[in-house]
Amino acid sequence: MKICIIGTGYVGLVTGTCLGDLGNEVIFCDIDVGKISSLKEKKIPIYEPGLREIFIRNFERGRLLFSTDTADSVARADVVFITVGTPEDESGAADLSYVKVVASEIGKSLNRYKVIVNKSTVPVGTSRLVKRIVRENSSADIDFDVVSNPEFLREGCAVEDFMNPDRVVIGTGSKRAIETMTKLYEPLKADIFVSNPESAEMIKYASNAFLATKISFINAIANVCSAVGADVERVAKGMGFDKRIGPHFLEPGPGYGGSCFPKDCKALAKTADDHGYDFYLLKAVMRVNEDQKRLIGKWVEEMLGDVKDKQIGILGLAFKPETDDIRESAALTVLQYLKQRGANILAYDPIAMNNIKSVLNDDIRLVANAYDVAEGSDAVILLTHWEEFKKLEYGKVKSLMRQPFFIDTRNCLDPDEMERLGFVYRGVGRGAC
Ligand code: NAD
Repeated sequence: MKICIIGTGYVGLVTGTCLGDLGNEVIFCDIDVGKISSLKEKKIPIYEPGLREIFIRNFERGRLLFSTDTADSVARADVVFITVGTPEDESGAADLSYVKVVASEIGKSLNRYKVIVNKSTVPVGTSRLVKRIVRENSSADIDFDVVSNPEFLREGCAVEDFMNPDRVVIGTGSKRAIETMTKLYEPLKADIFVSNPESAEMIKYASNAFLATKISFINAIANVCSAVGADVERVAKGMGFDKRIGPHFLEPGPGYGGSCFPKDCKALAKTADDHGYDFYLLKAVMRVNEDQKRLIGKWVEEMLGDVKDKQIGILGLAFKPETDDIRESAALTVLQYLKQRGANILAYDPIAMNNIKSVLNDDIRLVANAYDVAEGSDAVILLTHWEEFKKLEYGKVKSLMRQPFFIDTRNCLDPDEMERLGFVYRGVGRGAC
């Protein structure tokens, strides 16, 4: 099929590249001229494991095209994917302005029947809204369908997730659109779950809110564990054997971040508020998460006392390993907390350094490796569990530090070994400091 992807970010680029690999011809369209120029030169603007190889392979097969001309890109396609951002607005709701602009552009360029697929995360009712905007901007005799097809890929393993999804959700009442979407996804051999658009839209928010709830729950349990002397790692493992609970998303840490959970939880709570339901469970999930991020800064103060003019080393800036995405990363909150109190911050991340530069400017000193972070530091905080941080020579790290305080917010190191090496080690929910 001929596919047009409007919005060539994390989701659009992965979706289009993978659909190209499945044998389709894909036109990537974005308003970001720099992004499209880079892609034309085979330069991928994001870090995502495995993406480069598939991208190059399909680029060379001539299956991937790039454009800033939305009208032309839409006109050439059978299926048009909307994959633009839906950030939170001032009220916490999803900002649909990018989706609306794209819908009107699609309407204006509609030249024959097309399936318009909304892959962006959008509140219930957006399929209807997109349909209305496309209709208002198109000629009345051209037919089209709008499908809600939320995306569940995770940054860091996005290609793997796209190619092997737990399920593909298709929200539409149109048989013709279901046939097109089924044909498109058929090579993945995944379970296809068809529902009405409203339920499809809600599946995405409910899934993200549930996963965020699991994270806040285990973080709350971790804090109780610390208070009573239990080890949350043993607790989570013991809980996870129960099939009703399962082992996933029971990893304590510095709170969830990234471009999805924070904004999607807020948007769902706002939708509920707007419809007269106070979703106080979800509001508590968000509050636990904000508190968790701030707790890390407080732990540093508990260890060092006043942090003014102390040197704090940060290992990891991305919101999780295997991505360069720092949006809503716990590291940002921790850095700001310590910076406001006068600490000097040194930081290193294997991939996300360029992205942090654009946000924090001169607030922190970025260094070339993990050992440079340790050199002269009074405390080191591990915030992203990159594999390379698990494999450091911690004896060397300790010998470089001015004081031996170490906070492992991902519980990825062995507390006994760290103590044997002479660190004053604190994990999350692994007994008191
Ligand atoms: P992103 O910010 O990385 O990319 C969005 C792209 O859309 C940008 O390149 C931007 O320039 C482009 N854009 C904006 N307006 C445009 C227009 N009028 N025409 C063409 N291009 C335009 O966003 P993302 O992280 O890929 O997320 C996209 C959507 O997918 C969001 O709704 C998000 O919630 C959802 N989602 C994201 C993830 C994820 O892990 N990032 C996972 C699942 C779902």
